[in-house]
Amino acid sequence: MTAAPPIAFDNSYARLGPGFFSRTPPTPVVQPGLIAVNARLAQRLGIDPGWLTGDEGLRMLAGNALPAGAEPIAQAYAGHQFGGLSPQLGDGRAVLLGEVVAPDGARFDLQLKGSGPTPFSRGGDGRAWLGPVLREYLVSEFMAAAGVPTTRALAAVTTGEAVWRETALPGAVLTRVAASHVRVGTFEFFAIRGDLDRLRALADHVIARHYPDATGALDLLRGVVARQAETVAQWMALGFIHGVMNTDNMAVSGETIDYGPCAFMDAYHPDTVFSSIDRGGRYAWAEQPHVAVWNLAQLASCLIPLMGDDPDRAVAEATEVVHGFPALYQAGWLRRFAAKLGLADPRPEDRSLIERLLTLMADQRADFTRTFRGLVTGEAAAEFTDSAPFADWARDWQARGPDLALAAAANPVRIPRNHRIQQAIDAGVRGDFAPFHRLTAALSAPFDDRAEWADLALPPASGEEVRVTYCG
Ligand code: AMP
Ligand code: MG
Ligand code: MG
Repeated sequence: MTAAPPIAFDNSYARLGPGFFSRTPPTPVVQPGLIAVNARLAQRLGIDPGWLTGDEGLRMLAGNALPAGAEPIAQAYAGHQFGGLSPQLGDGRAVLLGEVVAPDGARFDLQLKGSGPTPFSRGGDGRAWLGPVLREYLVSEFMAAAGVPTTRALAAVTTGEAVWRETALPGAVLTRVAASHVRVGTFEFFAIRGDLDRLRALADHVIARHYPDATGALDLLRGVVARQAETVAQWMALGFIHGVMNTDNMAVSGETIDYGPCAFMDAYHPDTVFSSIDRGGRYAWAEQPHVAVWNLAQLASCLIPLMGDDPDRAVAEATEVVHGFPALYQAGWLRRFAAKLGLADPRPEDRSLIERLLTLMADQRADFTRTFRGLVTGEAAAEFTDSAPFADWARDWQARGPDLALAAAANPVRIPRNHRIQQAIDAGVRGDFAPFHRLTAALSAPFDDRAEWADLALPPASGEEVRVTYCG
């Protein structure tokens, strides 16, 4: 009798056939070294964490060996980057090993990121350095713990190879788990080529996988719009700035994907931008819902040819669905920000209560996370240099009868602050992963107010601030 394979693969995307991907194995690395394995996520997937941390598992995580059933592919996609169309992007430094079917039947992509060049690398080296790998691990695991739809991190390994990013840096590979890696840009890839057969096959694949109740392309669009409205509302309520909301970085599953130059605000201001390449502030915190609509309009354009024989009608219906985003988003925003104030059944007039607080916070550059958490602990006033306007606001808020248990569940104690991520990366580059492991543990329990992690809830001291992030 042969033992069951360590991973239960069933690769439905690879079955879509030629044109959707290039069969590309990962490129082996000199010396795989384990940084972290996410044992709980492994168990969720039905993978034995002991196998994953063993020799065979480590070789898979580094791209040095393929487990039984894996069919490595680099996926083709296009995308609008900062508003301009790039007809050919694709996985330039990642390969999809395959789809894992978990014990409960749920299906997850298993992708190596930083696994070497592919036909889509366009001159890039196909590699990742340690910094972005640790950042994605920390931020995506925080997002999962905070209840935000997101891709996840199963493992991070070092490669023993240098990656050149203006200077030589240690190479690393992230193993990413996602509901799927189908992006708005995947639809654009086929739509701009006029490849209706593959466009239809892709829509059918996404419906079967993510929207099984959808009746067709219009209904698929409706589903994506609804999920993205919720996801972006959750980003806003955490002070999260994705940083590079190009259409190739928007997953049709509704999961947050591509943690490149992302960051969380410390001091609140709606115009905050961190990404070094976002000079115009296209992807600033407050712009995110608008950009989501823009991206969803691109998806709508792609899907219109699948919406029946009457193009005028298809355009009208698709437009109406995309125009439904603001109402869905506003409802999600109100529900989430009201919960942050401890208000379970928001009334329309609560919007102005929330907005008054945000305006005070922006005027005084109050810390986003600490102000909201401070509503629970009674320490919020300390975040304001002039506490009088806040005291006025707090009287009106108290009059509304907040439920502090609800507020405690909506306001994390800790977020992945930029300076802490940077410190974990700096230590990792020196070969010390203890700060990364400590931060991972603390961010995986973001609502747990523990004294041993008190320092991780502090804003950056002067000199510690990190104001710029990079795509990696
Ligand atoms: P991103 O900005 O991460 O969304 O990436 C945009 C495109 O650039 C995608 O097609 C990536 O696969 C590709 N890319 C990013 N970094 C690299 C790299 N180091 N080598 C090859 N391709 C890359
Ligand atoms: Mg990307
Ligand atoms: Mg990226």
